[in-house]
Amino acid sequence: MQDLLFIDQPGLLAKSDRDSAPRERRYYVWTVGCQMNVSDSERLEAALQGVGYSPAQRPDDASFIVLNSCSVRASAEERILGKLGELVRVKREQPDTRVVLWGCMVGPNHRSIFERQLPMVDHFVSPSAVDEVVALAPNPIYTLDEPALPVANWTHPPVSVHVPIQYGCNMSCSYCVIPLRRGRERSRPLEELVEECSRIVARGAREITLLGQIVDSWGHDLPGRPQLADLLEAVHTVPGLQRLRFLTSHPAWMTERLITTVAKLPRCMPDINLPVQAGSDALLKLMRRGYTAQRYRALVERMRATIPNVSLTTDIIVGHPGEREEDFAQTMALCEEIRFDKVHIAAFSARPGTLAAEQEQDLALAVPEAEKEARRRALERLQEQIATELNQRFLGQTVEVLVEGESKGRWRGRSPNNKLVFFAHPDDLTGQTVSVEIKQTGPWALQGSLVSTGASLA
Ligand code: SF4
Repeated sequence: MQDLLFIDQPGLLAKSDRDSAPRERRYYVWTVGCQMNVSDSERLEAALQGVGYSPAQRPDDASFIVLNSCSVRASAEERILGKLGELVRVKREQPDTRVVLWGCMVGPNHRSIFERQLPMVDHFVSPSAVDEVVALAPNPIYTLDEPALPVANWTHPPVSVHVPIQYGCNMSCSYCVIPLRRGRERSRPLEELVEECSRIVARGAREITLLGQIVDSWGHDLPGRPQLADLLEAVHTVPGLQRLRFLTSHPAWMTERLITTVAKLPRCMPDINLPVQAGSDALLKLMRRGYTAQRYRALVERMRATIPNVSLTTDIIVGHPGEREEDFAQTMALCEEIRFDKVHIAAFSARPGTLAAEQEQDLALAVPEAEKEARRRALERLQEQIATELNQRFLGQTVEVLVEGESKGRWRGRSPNNKLVFFAHPDDLTGQTVSVEIKQTGPWALQGSLVSTGASLA
């Protein structure tokens, strides 16, 4: 899972052509957490617009407020609790406002440990239950002509859409709260997913990212045990689809067939997120990750040998209980050796109910906060230097960019390797694949100038 990516934003689909809607038909959705939450919120917003709502930019301007929450780190819960604190005033001034707390803080059982402590919340809803949230909207003017899940309901979807293909996780990584909050793995059937992707692309999306906590394990619980490679092959045939990606892989589940399938499908992008979490076998065992650093290295070697120009991103936790200096040194060494395009780095944060939270009670195992922070900064500095060097290879090259939208007066898009690219142009090129010559590179993004529109696809 991409459990270390944090997105903290209101109004994912904040542009609407119904800007004159009154407050009673405006929603405010605020999202914290991983791509799965972002995908759930996108679906919720699409469904709310389908029943007649428009987005509001501030909670005060909405009658229906949904906070999509995350429990992966204590800081994520603190942000949600802070936001709920702000809503006390909104509810006092406008008592008809309806507030829903949604997502991982609520968990799978529709009951929340916070229920009695959060009087400003009217309803608690489990992760991914989009239909349940939509049914709570107080003033719909339409009913949905199709369920919000599993079929996405956008009239005008974004250029790039995340499609959940599986929910939950059967692993038991020491530090992770996801299996407790999202339950056992449930894969969605292949036909349903192909139909949904076809619908989204027919309505204007150009890129699909298939999402799962362990996306490579998709299908093992379905009749006939199809594999992610089968799903990629099927979705790849969707007419109009330009780019296909998937998130998040797991080293214990990634197969040779998956690697060769990515290599052979031209619209499947050379971009793999494979969380390693640590470079030391002793720590990987404590984390219960189910692979060794050597297995990880072998996978990277296979991917680099098989998928031309593949970019690799990873997730790493520093300061997990039991991480000795020599374990951290091995993580640094692994990063220097592999040279990832991007690393999502997090200092360990104990989550109640997990094995690692118990381990942290043992003073012999716990890593002091100052040391966690020092390790996080050291790894960040190393990665910034590596990413700076890696991105320099694009200088002077022309890359194909799928334009996602505008950002501070420039167009913003992604290269096949998922590099963020900015360029200036007078026309709106959103949704087009264009050729951009890279003039400037940095660790996090590339800047360039347009060479031509209508680039031939990779
Ligand atoms: S338990 Fe492990 S594999 Fe499953 S979601 Fe958490 S970190 Fe990912």
